[in-house]
Amino acid sequence: MEFIPFNILTPYQDEAVAEALLSVHRGGQYILGERLDAFEKEYAHFTGVRHCVGVGSGYDALLLSLKAIGLLPGDEVIVPANTYVATWLAVSNAGGVPVPVEPDQRTCNLDPTRIAERITSRTKAIIPVHLFGNPCDMHTIMGVARTYGLKVIEDNAQGHGARLVEDGTHGAQLTGSFGEVNATSFYPTKNLGALGDGGAITTNDEEIAARIRRLRNYGFSSKNVCDEVGVNSRLDELQAAVLSVKLGQLYQRNNRRRTIADAYTEALYGVGDLQLPVTTAGGEHVYHLYVVRTRSRNALAGHLQKNNIQTAIHYPVPPHLQKAYGHLNYKHGSFPITETMAATMLSLPFWPDMNEQQIARVVESVRSFY
Ligand SMILES: *Cc1c(COP(=O)(O)O)cnc(C)c1O
Repeated sequence: MEFIPFNILTPYQDEAVAEALLSVHRGGQYILGERLDAFEKEYAHFTGVRHCVGVGSGYDALLLSLKAIGLLPGDEVIVPANTYVATWLAVSNAGGVPVPVEPDQRTCNLDPTRIAERITSRTKAIIPVHLFGNPCDMHTIMGVARTYGLKVIEDNAQGHGARLVEDGTHGAQLTGSFGEVNATSFYPTKNLGALGDGGAITTNDEEIAARIRRLRNYGFSSKNVCDEVGVNSRLDELQAAVLSVKLGQLYQRNNRRRTIADAYTEALYGVGDLQLPVTTAGGEHVYHLYVVRTRSRNALAGHLQKNNIQTAIHYPVPPHLQKAYGHLNYKHGSFPITETMAATMLSLPFWPDMNEQQIARVVESVRSFY
C-alpha cells in the first residue's frame, strides 16, 4: 500500500528556479539588490497594495509591523485564541500583551462579534489571522477597528491569494491589503513558499513601508546612518528570485488546491460526525490546509496511519495553554471553543500535486473508519 504523506513540497518550475538561482550566484549581489526590488513590486501589485517590503520571516514581518505602528510596552493587541503561536510571540517580543479572542464556531477564524468585549484603554491593534487560507470577515473587523480607533495588522502567512469577493458595497479585495500594515510568511510549506525562511509586509502607507525598510536593515536611513534601533531581517536575493518565479504559478496552484478541497468536501459530506471546512461568507478560500473536525480525532488519525496515510494537527496545544504563556494565567476552560478545536481538528494529506488515486485512497480510508 503506497504511503501517502501529509504533504509533499513538489519542486515545480525546476528550470526557471535553477536559472534564477544561477543568475543570482553569477550576478554577485546577494543582499538588498534588484531581485528583491523586483519581487517587492510584483508582490505589491499581486496583493493590490502600493508597497511591499521583504524581510527574513513571517514572524519578523509581524514583529516589525508592530514596531512600525508604534506599539509601546504594555500595549494590548487582540489576537485569535485559535492561531499558530508565532502570532502571539511577535506581540510579546514587541513588548505588547496578546489578548485572545475566541473563533467563530463555523469558520474557525477570529469572531468579530467578540472583539469589543476585550477592548480596554490599552488596546492598540487587532491581528486577524486568515487561518488555513480562509479569509477573515475583514469588512466587519475593519468596522470594529474604526469604531474603537485601533490599527489592524493582518497575519496573512496562510492566505496568499485569498480574497473577499465583490458584494455590492465593497469591491473584491485580497487578504493582506486591508490592514494599516500586513505580514506574510514565505516559509517553504506556505502557499507561496521560498527555499528557506522569508517573509514580507504589505501596506499602502508610505511612511510605514519606509520605516520597515529602515528597521529591517539596522535602522539605517542611508549607508552608516543609523536612525533607530533596527534589526537584521532581509529577504535575500536568492529567495526573492525564486519567489518571483513561484509567484507566477500561485494562481494556478491555489486553483488546484481548491479543486482538491472540493473533491474532499464532496466525498466526505455527511460521513460520520465529520465537520468539513466552512468558508467565510463572501470569501475565496485558498486552502493552505484541509482541516476536518471530529470527536474521534485521535482514533481517526490512528486508523489512517494503519492505512499508511499520514495526517497532522494544526494545532494540538493552543497558545494560552503553552508554558510560555503561563504568566497570563489562563487555564483549561479559559477558551473552550479554541480548546475544543484543538482537540478535534485533523489536517488531511494535502498538497497541490496530489493525484486522483491519492485523494481517493484518503477518502476511502476515512469512510471505512466510520
Ligand atoms: C507560518 C506562520 C507564521 C510565521 O511565519 P515564519 O515565516 O515561519 O516565521 C506566523 N503566523 C502564521 C499564522 C503562520 O502560519
